[in-house]
Amino acid sequence: MYAIFGNPVSHSKSPLMHNYFFKKSGIKECYGRYKLEDGSKIIEKFKNLKLKGANVTVPHKEWAYKLCDEVKGIAKEIKAVNTLLLENNKIIGYNTDAPGFKEAIKEFDYKKPLIIGAGGTAKAISLVLKNPTILNRSKNRFEYFEKKGLKTYTWDNINEFDFDLIINTTSAGLSEEVLPTPKEIIEKLFKNAKFCVDVIYGKETLFLKEAKKYNLLFKTGLDMLVYQGVLAMELFLNKKLNKKEVADIYFEILR
Ligand code: NDP
Repeated sequence: MYAIFGNPVSHSKSPLMHNYFFKKSGIKECYGRYKLEDGSKIIEKFKNLKLKGANVTVPHKEWAYKLCDEVKGIAKEIKAVNTLLLENNKIIGYNTDAPGFKEAIKEFDYKKPLIIGAGGTAKAISLVLKNPTILNRSKNRFEYFEKKGLKTYTWDNINEFDFDLIINTTSAGLSEEVLPTPKEIIEKLFKNAKFCVDVIYGKETLFLKEAKKYNLLFKTGLDMLVYQGVLAMELFLNKKLNKKEVADIYFEILR
């Protein structure tokens, strides 16, 4: 038995994705959802439910990171855990969000990436990209990136526009029809770019609509969601899977 912990959790697509995969693959397992109000109880609940593995979503990823027995891989750098796994009676924490993003854009042969936004998602993604530059509306959150030697710009001082991959990690566009930067900046960026990603899923944002006008190859938050799920499934089953084939199964049920 597997599950996802979150609050809220009713919107999560993970049970649908993973149960469909189990069924299609003839694996006799099931995957549920658990609305957890108090994140400090996450490990206790994991044990009470006798889970083999779990996913963790907002707002409990930091609790999972702090409370699991051991953290492995990139989760150590991100300081957030989205996958828990029972290994030899220990609960091990992993993060498949950022590696899932990397897998989702594998076919993009980019050289110069720009991340728009400087929040949690931008931090995680910056760890799996080659030397990204950061563009954000304010400079409050730049310390993390600057400590790593990454270039940062605000809307007022950006002076280079020759990026080939543009990634929107802001929540602009989530509930309103707005672009993540003023229009003239987006236009200059898209003119030179080849690829783009919007991490938001479930709707076509203004950012994506604009990217389509410039014929950019694009990925969305759905690709990211699917590949974090594929990597979590590899951990759950403790075996390498054909990622593209498993992703196609997830897309089949999600689209
Ligand atoms: P954070 O709150 O950590 O960061 C939000 C960022 O967006 C900040 O840089 C903020 O700028 C910027 N921002 C917010 N509103 C605007 C606006 N109107 N115009 C310009 N910039 C804005 O959020 P997260 O990083 O946790 O999440 C960001 C997005 O990523 C969400 O939409 C979320 O749904 C999505 N997401 C998708 C995932 C997936 O699997 N597809 C996984 C995780 C997240 P400032 O610093 O100036 O406030």
